[in-house]
Amino acid sequence: MSVLVLVEVEEGRTSLVSREALTFARALGAGDVHAVVVGAASAATVADCRDAGVAVVHEAVDPALDRYAAAAWAAVVEAAGRAARADLVVAPGTGRGNEVLAHVAARRGLQMAANVVSVTSLAPLVVERQVVGGAALERATVSSRVRLLTMAGHAVEPSPAATPGEARVSPLAVPVDPRDMRAQVVRVERREKGDSAGLAGARVVVGAGRGAGGPDGFAAVDALAERLGGAVGVSRVVTSLGWRPHHEQVGQTGSRIAPDLYLACGISGSIQHWAGCASSRTIIAVNTDAEAPMVTKADYAVIGDMHEVLPAVLDELG
Ligand SMILES: Cc1cc2nc3c(=O)[nH]c(=O)nc-3n(C[C@H](O)[C@H](O)[C@H](O)COP(=O)(O)OP(=O)(O)OC[C@H]3O[C@@H](n4cnc5c(N)ncnc54)[C@H](O)[C@@H]3O)c2cc1C
Repeated sequence: MSVLVLVEVEEGRTSLVSREALTFARALGAGDVHAVVVGAASAATVADCRDAGVAVVHEAVDPALDRYAAAAWAAVVEAAGRAARADLVVAPGTGRGNEVLAHVAARRGLQMAANVVSVTSLAPLVVERQVVGGAALERATVSSRVRLLTMAGHAVEPSPAATPGEARVSPLAVPVDPRDMRAQVVRVERREKGDSAGLAGARVVVGAGRGAGGPDGFAAVDALAERLGGAVGVSRVVTSLGWRPHHEQVGQTGSRIAPDLYLACGISGSIQHWAGCASSRTIIAVNTDAEAPMVTKADYAVIGDMHEVLPAVLDELG
């Protein structure tokens, strides 16, 4: 028996959340870890899989699969699952990972748990998973013969296996059923500047909320993010008011971040915002209100006006 991991690739590189899923799957100690990749597995992805202790990388190469189609990807995962004799399938809890495993669950009549943060028992499979946008944890039992789960982002940190895996690449022949292509991505448009993937993987995030005061209140926020080599993250109020683009939003309906440092300025720390930043290693709040939830939850806080504090920090950094 083995664990199969759906590995997502972004511009030829294994996504961070996929490397987290590989680490998570290995740590379960539930047999060999296999990976499945839709499209040709790049040398970088095979190397990542080897480092993560993967025994076999199943790759499904077919021009018809170049366009993302959840049902067709589900057929690939099913075929890889059979080839790997997997009784557990793990995917990153991304839009695609959740959608693909939901299709597998529906097609095969299997049980699936989404947004899992930990496994407390393998037989029966008992998981802890995030619900209500990460504001609460739920314990769930998954009892179908093949168990499906997606992982909450940043629940574990990717780490190499003590012994690298063979990472043998095994081609998977999966005839693409045209019915599985009825819903497919037909076009991808790139933003000219910035993206939420950069925010999700940033080591430093300088965040700003309504306290910024308006679209012109972000000069020091932008400057500090650039000075620290980080990204800008904002609250939903900021995006709803059109002060900043949606891809910068952190929270339940935005990006989940897990930086080493999150500097949250003029952000109250609502439960929906917290759902996206709770995995930050260190949080510093800058707020005029000493009772704001972000201040009470932060590791450190500066009680003051962000329009005075941030320029002072920039001055200090030189
Ligand atoms: C279904 C749903 C989903 C949601 N999803 C998200 C989400 O993904 N992300 C998200 O962020 N929100 C989300 N929200 C909105 C959320 O509930 C809050 O309304 C929002 O996070 C508040 O944004 P804020 O902290 O910027 O504003 P406020 O709550 O107005 O807080 C502003 C803070 O700035 C401080 N402040 C004011 N002036 C200054 C100054 N000059 N210097 C320093 N501090 C100052 C104030 O003391 C206050 O703490 C969601 C809500 C719902 C219902």
